[in-house]
This record gives sequence, structure tokens and C-alpha cells, in this order.
Amino acid sequence: MKYIAHYPPALQAQVRTLMAEQGLGPMLLKRYPAAHAVRTDRALYDYVTGLKAEFLRNADPLSKVMFDSKLHVIRHALGTHTTMSRVQGSKLKAKREIRVASLFKAVPLEWLRMIVVHELAHMKEREHDKAFYALCTHMDADYHQREFDLRLYLTHLDAGGTRLWSVEADDALSR
Ligand SMILES: [Zn+2]
Repeated sequence: MKYIAHYPPALQAQVRTLMAEQGLGPMLLKRYPAAHAVRTDRALYDYVTGLKAEFLRNADPLSKVMFDSKLHVIRHALGTHTTMSRVQGSKLKAKREIRVASLFKAVPLEWLRMIVVHELAHMKEREHDKAFYALCTHMDADYHQREFDLRLYLTHLDAGGTRLWSVEADDALSR
């Protein structure tokens, strides 16, 4: 259970029991009945810039926001954030991108929000430290619960569980 390996052992034991009883998927579906409707890169861009305008108005503008099907495995904290430097005339200009793993196309809105909040928080705080998580919970009061629930889903998939939400048609749409 690598996705929840850093949570307390007692909590992990509960999850293991729930999985043995085939109860994890149904529990998640009950808590999160539907997937969000942010289906395309364009819609994702609008969603991210909306949150940014609400909480981080003064941060650098985002040059690119997209779902990325190559972000397969959860690296870093489930997404990536890059600051690419590029020479423009004599100046180095920072180019901000947010890429969200394609897995997040078919999850509840709460989890999309959580990952976007995570990536936005990195625009101000580089490390995963206290200040970083304070900013995350400022943007999403349920941040930690959402991340845990998402990790439960990843654990479910990792154990061979089926996807709980699907948006097959949308994959074709955004290609
Ligand atoms: Zn991070």
C-alpha cells in the first residue's frame, strides 16, 4: 500500500480490512458519487486560472495548463509543476506550467481541486513544508482529507480495482 505508507499503521490496517471486504470502492463511490466536468485542457485552464485569481492574484501568470497522459506514475505529489526558464531577448523569463496527470480527468471535483491547489501553492512555496501546507489548506480547508481519499483510490487501483468513474468519450475529445 505504497500510496498510504506514511499514514499511521492503525489507519493502514483499517484500509486493508476494508479492501479485503471489497468495501473500499463502494465507500469512495458513496462519498463521491460523480466525476467532475472539467474535461478538456481549455476547461482545465479556466478552472485553474479561476482558482488562481481567487487566491494567488499576484503570482506570475500561467503560460500553460494541461492534462498530461505521460504523467503516469505519481511523481512528486501527484502532479508536476515546472518553471522553465527561457531566454527572451536579454532577459530570462520564467514560464509557468501546470500539468495534471490524465487520471484526474475522471475523478471527483474535490480531488481535482486538491491537486490544482497543490500545484498553485508551489507558485509561492517550493518545498513541502509548513508554509506550503498552510497555503494549501487556506485554498482548500479539506485539503488533507481529499488527499487521503485520493490516495485510497490509488491504493484501490493499485490492487487491481476497477476505475470508479469514467469519461471514455472525453479522452478522444481532448486529443
Ligand atoms: Zn508538490
